[in-house]
Amino acid sequence: MAKYIFVTGGVTSSLGKGIIAASLAKLLQARGFNATIQKFDPYINVDPGTLNPYEHGECYVTEDGAETDLDLGHYERFLNIHTSQANNVTTGRIYQTVINKERAGDFLGKTVQVVPHITDEIKRRMLLLGEQGYDVVITEIGGTVGDIESLPFIEAVRQLQWELPEEDLMVVHLTLIPYLKAAKELKTKPTQHSVKMLSETGVHPDVIVCRTEEPLTNEIKRKIALFCNVKTEAVIEAMDASTIYEVPLLMLQEKLDTICMRKLRLETKKEPELTSWIAFLDKLKYPKSKVSIGLIGKYVELQDAYKSILESFIHAGALNEVKVQVVNVHSEHITQENVAEKLSGLDGLLVAPGFGHRGIEGKIIAVQFAREKGLPFFGICLGMQMAVIEYARNVLGLANAHSTEMESGTNDPVINMMEEQKKIKMMGGTMRLGAYPCDIKEGSLAHKIYGELHISERHRHRYEFNSDYLDQFESKGMMASGRNPQTGLVEIMEIPTHPFFIGVQYHPELKSTVERPAPLFVHFIAAAKQYNEKRSATISRLVESVPVK
Ligand code: GLN
Repeated sequence: MAKYIFVTGGVTSSLGKGIIAASLAKLLQARGFNATIQKFDPYINVDPGTLNPYEHGECYVTEDGAETDLDLGHYERFLNIHTSQANNVTTGRIYQTVINKERAGDFLGKTVQVVPHITDEIKRRMLLLGEQGYDVVITEIGGTVGDIESLPFIEAVRQLQWELPEEDLMVVHLTLIPYLKAAKELKTKPTQHSVKMLSETGVHPDVIVCRTEEPLTNEIKRKIALFCNVKTEAVIEAMDASTIYEVPLLMLQEKLDTICMRKLRLETKKEPELTSWIAFLDKLKYPKSKVSIGLIGKYVELQDAYKSILESFIHAGALNEVKVQVVNVHSEHITQENVAEKLSGLDGLLVAPGFGHRGIEGKIIAVQFAREKGLPFFGICLGMQMAVIEYARNVLGLANAHSTEMESGTNDPVINMMEEQKKIKMMGGTMRLGAYPCDIKEGSLAHKIYGELHISERHRHRYEFNSDYLDQFESKGMMASGRNPQTGLVEIMEIPTHPFFIGVQYHPELKSTVERPAPLFVHFIAAAKQYNEKRSATISRLVESVPVK
């Protein structure tokens, strides 16, 4: 029988419920429990696949091809497990299921209502993963307590409190304790109000986790406990951390895991096994050198748009014992005139994934710079497609080469829509999504990177390399080093004569975890490190050669 922990949020959004949930799951996992996490989002979109990054940050894709909330990325990176479609449910999906059942006549003439029909469907999905053999299922409820749209989810938790044995369910409420500079005081009132609001809906938290910029004194903890009706030890301080990967250790110090285990009567004598986690943190905190990587994209000002890429840099940096300084370069601002000024000083270039026309010419100019200067280059999805277009235009002499995504009538469609995509009219969940196998060419850079010939990576795209042009590319030095074994779709392009130039049609950033950093990122950072060392050596040689008077 699984135990269920629900995580709600109060006062404001963006408090980091996903990180707290992932940290708690990490600690329980480290104590030997089989833990998983799921997220319930209160919006009407069936999944976040149709939301643009301004609305919702990155869309995270699971092995089974679900387009999900970016918090699932944190769950995978912390726990080193695969999540699936079942781990992310939205209001839209709940209603879609209930309405489909109603159309099928499954409700036998009954009036279909929020309570009990919608809440029944929410509860069914809340319990689903628990039926798959997990010891603990942590459910993060998106949004903030008091939002109209999250009410059915809270109501479902209220009902479950009565349906499950008392020791099988608990609620952790994450809240904000603001510090008022003028008064030099931490303020507990917003938390009191948010717990009160939660209680009015019939759900009382067992634990209150307090996000704070200043340490909570015992007095403050006692005050929160008194007004919010919990034990003092159930008031947990969550100070801002220098990295999200430190949060599990902070939660361990605050005993969040033991408090939850006590409430859920989870028995173990095992202390958390976090040796490799701590070793990773040490490397992350005390790097031996630094590399600067240019991230070329059109959403660089949004911190969540390239979340998995940024986290993959952190994993790969720690493994290489270097600090990866990511320099955001807005692709719309890159021109032939300013490219050298914008990109020199970097040790590597990553051209980001994306959709649509905006900023692509800047990406193509950036690729050309990296190719011609021998700067380590790594293109992901649209980034790979831009590398192909750049090569076609500037090396193959196909001046108008393009992707049919941006120019449907181009004479040289080196990137075009996949055959099976041409008949699709609906936008949601219709791309090539999820894990597909890829066969790697022996002796290629990709082979060196992965150390194997058969890999599997996750996808999210509609367009592909046009294989009609493959001979032209290969005869001029750009090679397809990875292809899908069934369809022959090109998955990896590289330039063997360049120190490090690789573009991939898939998204390797989606599989990078603390324990298993993505090989492409690890090798890209290693190449950038080498490039940096050579660059520094040249600079110091130049300095040495300045005649001393
Ligand atoms: N827009 C491109 C395609 O659909 C690339 C997608 C991506 O970068 N994820 O093929």
